[in-house]
Amino acid sequence: MEQTISITSHTERKVTDTRALPFGKVPTEHMFIAEYKDGKWQNASVTPFHDLSLSPIALCLHYGQTVFEGMKAFRMNDGNINVFRMDKHYDRFNLSLQRMCMPAVPKDLFVNAIHQLVAIDADWVPTDEDGSLYIRPFMIATEARIGVKVADEYLFMVVCSPAFLYYSQPLRVKVETTYVRAAEGGTGMAKCGGNYGGAFYPAGLAREEGFDQVLWTDSKTHEYIEESGTMNAMFFIDDTLITPSLSGSILDGVTRNSLLSIARDKGVRVEERPIKYTELLAAFQAGKRVEAFGAGTAAVVAPIATISIHGTDHACYTGKDAMMYKLRSWLYDIRIGAAPDTHHWNYII
Ligand code: PMP
Repeated sequence: MEQTISITSHTERKVTDTRALPFGKVPTEHMFIAEYKDGKWQNASVTPFHDLSLSPIALCLHYGQTVFEGMKAFRMNDGNINVFRMDKHYDRFNLSLQRMCMPAVPKDLFVNAIHQLVAIDADWVPTDEDGSLYIRPFMIATEARIGVKVADEYLFMVVCSPAFLYYSQPLRVKVETTYVRAAEGGTGMAKCGGNYGGAFYPAGLAREEGFDQVLWTDSKTHEYIEESGTMNAMFFIDDTLITPSLSGSILDGVTRNSLLSIARDKGVRVEERPIKYTELLAAFQAGKRVEAFGAGTAAVVAPIATISIHGTDHACYTGKDAMMYKLRSWLYDIRIGAAPDTHHWNYII
């Protein structure tokens, strides 16, 4: 049954210049909220952005039933607004929910929530070339109970914030061989809060050593590259775009998936396969041109300038003619309507 969404609009804040503020600091004027209770979704509404009232024994605060998504809306050349790859984000959201024993959100509720919210806050979608509206759907367990259990009550919410270029400088990363982000059989393929909380400590240690983030390796051997910080890791070596295959401990990134499709469309050789950091080392030692970058919604393509392997720095190629920049601009053209949307990735508001 389709949910009716009640809409209460109220405008107090003006869209000001949000470019100067750190990513995600300024929520837009409105938010979406729906309750899951007695086995069904109810009270779906778009309301002015507001704080929540939550019991201190709400289960999400103790046992980690929290799941989120991160997606973006873009201003197109014709002035329309495009929510990029709504379907794929929806599928991943529900996959994460399933892994965390949380109830599915019906597709019409997810799509309508985002549609209504972005429509009402349309003025917050930046018109600048490097601007977009970051959309954060998320769900938390709200049932008030101290005992360890799967919650019976939840809130599904969506908030938005204007976003601009995420990383300005090419990154310096280290291959992490002590700590892991995720393990086989764990929750790495889900976008649940705990994955991020657990990554802060090793990321902090890396920052103390002068790195921007870590290149995660697998939990069993520490030999295979998994991800780069909170992005998928991609490499361009010998005319081939290489990225680790989805092992179960790697998040199925929407940007990764989009860039792989675009590369194939453009006739670039693509390999999704396990990649050892020693393979990177051999390429560096052979004097090959190695491009390395993180792929994710927030940064889109984050060039990596330096990879440190067991304490030795190796320089990656970041010249203007790098493949990663071509991929980024091909993706950008689809999003703003400057290139045909052959895969039907654009959801126009
Ligand atoms: N890996 C992790 C761990 C992430 O948090 C993200 C960001 N969602 C990504 C990869 C990139 O995924 P996407 O392209 O869907 O943003």
